[in-house]
Amino acid sequence: MFEPRRIKHCRVCGSTVRYRTPPDDNRERAICEACGEIHYENPINVVGTVPVWGDQVLLCRRNIEPRRGLWTLPAGFLELGESTSEGALRETDEEAGAHIELQGLFTVLNVVRAGQLHLFYRARMLDTHLNPGPETIEAQLFREEEIPWDEIAFRTVRDTLRHFFADRRLGAFGVHTADIS
Ligand code: ZN
Repeated sequence: MFEPRRIKHCRVCGSTVRYRTPPDDNRERAICEACGEIHYENPINVVGTVPVWGDQVLLCRRNIEPRRGLWTLPAGFLELGESTSEGALRETDEEAGAHIELQGLFTVLNVVRAGQLHLFYRARMLDTHLNPGPETIEAQLFREEEIPWDEIAFRTVRDTLRHFFADRRLGAFGVHTADIS
């Protein structure tokens, strides 16, 4: 079971919180000792894209921890006030500076132990102009046989790439869901 226990202070008044189960609830929450505020913690959404140009896929080499120096698809945390597709577009712009058009939702991957849900969209690149941001060392297009499988930063990225190339061989893209343990 996932128990992050990461909240120490109340976000309303700053007092110490204690983990206990509120009345009419069934799990422990961080509850403020002073004002009674209950802090609910829920999985974090990570949104990204599989940007495609011809037979090539765009990867970014991470310039930030964790996994600095390894390759990833453009992806990051969904922000408040944006939809999943807006977040995927923004992350692709921030990390690669790529101009894309979103296609379908492609993978829905539960990373329960990390408290995260990862969503990747397929995307068509509109041109090959790239302008990587500070979180990216370099952005580069790869053919399937050129993918640096041993240097992929995250399991969800590797699984999404595997599904992409498998579906492309079949000539039809589905939506893939999985629980990553
Ligand atoms: Zn409080």
